[in-house]
Amino acid sequence: MQEMIDFGVMVFRQKNTNGTFKPHLSIKFRSDTGKLVTFSIDTTRTPAKYAQPDAYLITHAHSDHHGKSAMLSERAVCSDKTALALEIRHDRAYKGRTMEVGGSIDVNGVTVTAYPNFHTVGSTSFYWENDVGTRILVTGDVKDASLLPKCDVLITEANYGDPGDATCYFDDDIMGFRDVLQGNACVAFGAYAFGKAQRTVELLRGLGYNGAIAMEEKSLALTRYLLEDAGNIIGLGDICGDAVCVVPPWDLDKLPVNMSKYVMTGRCDYRYPAIQISDHLDARGLTCMVQDIGPKFTVVYHPSGHRPGRFAAHLRGLGFNAISIDKVNNVLSNDFI
Ligand SMILES: [Zn+2]
Repeated sequence: MQEMIDFGVMVFRQKNTNGTFKPHLSIKFRSDTGKLVTFSIDTTRTPAKYAQPDAYLITHAHSDHHGKSAMLSERAVCSDKTALALEIRHDRAYKGRTMEVGGSIDVNGVTVTAYPNFHTVGSTSFYWENDVGTRILVTGDVKDASLLPKCDVLITEANYGDPGDATCYFDDDIMGFRDVLQGNACVAFGAYAFGKAQRTVELLRGLGYNGAIAMEEKSLALTRYLLEDAGNIIGLGDICGDAVCVVPPWDLDKLPVNMSKYVMTGRCDYRYPAIQISDHLDARGLTCMVQDIGPKFTVVYHPSGHRPGRFAAHLRGLGFNAISIDKVNNVLSNDFI
């Protein structure tokens, strides 16, 4: 970790009062004015009686990035669409600050810019520089890294980052999706309400389907508020005649038996045929992302389990200086944030 000190950043993990680690990590550095600043990333809130970080950065509204907790802090920072998605998903008000995807926000003298990574509607990667000019990028989960900036310190994910695991290699099956759409007048796609459902609507419109899309209630609300150009989207109760439906996978059983049913997933443990459409880069994509960004130091911080360690080892094999979150030895108690 000596390199990190040379870069003027310290990555650390916090512990809960019961001694377990809080999710993900925090980073401490100095702003241009020399002020010590702490950003906590995709983690839960620290109890109010303890010192607070300058910002809780929320990369997107999937539950394993803990916006449900962080959204209740006035120090939360995320995109406007992530804030809206969190409010709809969790039925509570977002109390932090927002910027547009592509925009910037000032956090105690640090300009934080939100870059698109196309993982979900509203998802962002966060970029800023510290007092010695170190460029820091937190990617969150990534579907398309082509608009991400170069950086010195990269904090990134490894959802499909184990190069030794065959399930970490895939391509989106857009042609298969098109064939299913064209071959069925009455068809339902199983897709999680946040993320995959909006991707499915975008793909349907991208393939030229202009008819009504019937959606389950939560998926419909999220899509209506989050997606521009969603076209005619309706509730399941408003279907008349043939229909294209988008519902959570577990709701497919509730639809009429004469409807063709598919699941938008890379997994194969559903009783309906799968169409391979992912919200993520695969192992090749993640590797190319790191090569393009060209960091001097990389911390792989997500998800839990063995994949961050495998991806960090893979990066070291390619000559990168990389560690995974389980090797981050700096632990600060709440009193020292
Ligand atoms: Zn995610």
